[in-house]
Amino acid sequence: MTETLPDTRILVIEDEAAIRRFLTIILGSAGFAVEEAARGREGIARAATSAPDVIVLDLGLPDLDGKAVVAAIREWSQVPILILSVRDAEAEKIESLDAGADDYVTKPFSSGELLARLRALLRSRRPSETEKPVTAVGPLVIDLARRLVTLDGAEVKLTRKEYDVLALLSRHQGRLVTHRQLLTTVWGPAHIEDTHYLRIAIGHVRDKLGDDAADPRFILTEPGVGYRLK
Ligand code: CA
Repeated sequence: MTETLPDTRILVIEDEAAIRRFLTIILGSAGFAVEEAARGREGIARAATSAPDVIVLDLGLPDLDGKAVVAAIREWSQVPILILSVRDAEAEKIESLDAGADDYVTKPFSSGELLARLRALLRSRRPSETEKPVTAVGPLVIDLARRLVTLDGAEVKLTRKEYDVLALLSRHQGRLVTHRQLLTTVWGPAHIEDTHYLRIAIGHVRDKLGDDAADPRFILTEPGVGYRLK
């Protein structure tokens, strides 16, 4: 929590002045240099002119929907985008993630939750870490270079698909990976609707890791959206 983020520039796109002010205060005190935009089009323009390191985007904007803002920015930029969602906007949240947003928090959120998500996004964008071949979550070690998974030092035998699912989650450790991303990458674009493949594979991985979906040590479920490796 005390990790500072010097010279990290963040763009906040949010139409509600009170929430914008709250975000500016907590992000500013965490060491971010904060820029603000109150509309989607203004946000897209600022993203282009000021090249922020990370973007926080509210999905409920008056002029453009969140998916359109994400898609416009993704035309030229891979900047991490964290979306702010509300509980009854599941469809738009998922569309925005599929359009290329990286993660989300649901309003109302705590400042600790928001900062943890932002740090995970920024960490995973550092080149030295994105190429990191070994991921550890406590006793679980995923070695991408050797395609080897161990738990407490003992090899865990996974099928190819089970391994591919776990490997994709480990490449995005701490970040949300959507059903669509997992299905497209592991099974191919023809299987985007086959969420039962994914549910079964995740179930098998959890069984082999002795992980409990209700109280997970390793793989967190984001209901209706995707999965996240701790
Ligand atoms: Ca709003």
